[in-house]
Amino acid sequence: MGNVVTYCEYSGSSLRGSALSALNAARQVAAKHGGQVIALLIGKGAAGAASEAKKYAAKALVVEDDRLENYLAETYAPVVAGVVTGQGASALVGAANNLGKDLFPRVAALLDAGMASDISGVVSANQFRRPILAGSAIATVEVSTPVVVLTARQSEFAPAQPSDEGAVETAQAGDVSALGAEFVRLAVSKSERPELTEAKAIVAGGRGMKSGENFRILEELADTLGAGVGASRAATDAGFVPADWQIGQTGKVVAPDLYIAVAISGAIQHLAGMKGSKVIVAINKDAEAPIFQVADYGLVSTWEKTLPELTAEIKKHKAQAH
Ligand SMILES: Cc1cc2nc3c(=O)[nH]c(=O)nc-3n(C[C@H](O)[C@H](O)[C@H](O)COP(=O)(O)OP(=O)(O)OC[C@H]3O[C@@H](n4cnc5c(N)ncnc54)[C@H](O)[C@@H]3O)c2cc1C
Repeated sequence: MGNVVTYCEYSGSSLRGSALSALNAARQVAAKHGGQVIALLIGKGAAGAASEAKKYAAKALVVEDDRLENYLAETYAPVVAGVVTGQGASALVGAANNLGKDLFPRVAALLDAGMASDISGVVSANQFRRPILAGSAIATVEVSTPVVVLTARQSEFAPAQPSDEGAVETAQAGDVSALGAEFVRLAVSKSERPELTEAKAIVAGGRGMKSGENFRILEELADTLGAGVGASRAATDAGFVPADWQIGQTGKVVAPDLYIAVAISGAIQHLAGMKGSKVIVAINKDAEAPIFQVADYGLVSTWEKTLPELTAEIKKHKAQAH
């Protein structure tokens, strides 16, 4: 039994929402392990977020190194594994997002540790709940190795609240060998909109939008609300919108305060990525569409009629509020 290292993603001097959620999961794990939470920040400029991280943990541990400027799982994995061993930690926690999927299995392999991915609950020090079969069942899994590696679903662990005033420490990266991998370039799709996994509101479109061109009408609603824009797999597979907009079992898992599903039927694989949303609004012309079974508010109508009306109403309301 021991401390819990939490891998924290950050942007500039702020922790990302994924880090706050991971810190909440880590606190629950630490309570079962009888240890403390250590917030781990890695990369060039990592110290910038340490003053925020120490509010959530007994210690913020910073590993700054020019060689870690660009994220590569090959270089980061040994550093994370080194910290877990060096701190004598019994658990490592991170977010179940793309980075978690890339990095954590490698760290688990280096530590010879068992891993539970995508956890939605902490049962005991080594037992965890995780959704299976596209979220239609919940499994309780047990990890029997001395060190436990976990990725936690952001939709299931609310952001941690600041409660500590821990110390900031630094550690050396040690050997940073890329194992033959080489960083070439980072192609970031720039958007003024919030990232899907961090967004408070999301407007998502499905195959029924019929084209990428039509998505602009949906995007106008999203921009009026300050929302992120998502899509079903059918819409991304059809090339209407980029693949990284996909929400669902094989896309992003989101849990905003408001999710507006437009012309999305509500297949179980889509629901797996959004049914944790606080308020779900569905707009679909088919009253029998399964999306209405999970919707808090449903509108049986075409998007052609509804979206322009809704956007205009919200704009009017915003103008009156000013
Ligand atoms: C292994 C696996 C993984 C998958 N992963 C994912 C995933 O991550 N995410 C995901 O989304 N899917 C995923 N899928 C696909 C999933 O099964 C569905 O095929 C997909 O979600 C359907 O997308 P859709 O609802 O946009 O399209 P459809 O099912 O074709 O639904 C379109 C809807 O639009 C409505 N509509 C049509 N015209 C209008 C209009 N003018 N106005 C209003 N409504 C209209 C229709 O009534 C219909 O309900 C996966 C499938 C498999 C097998």
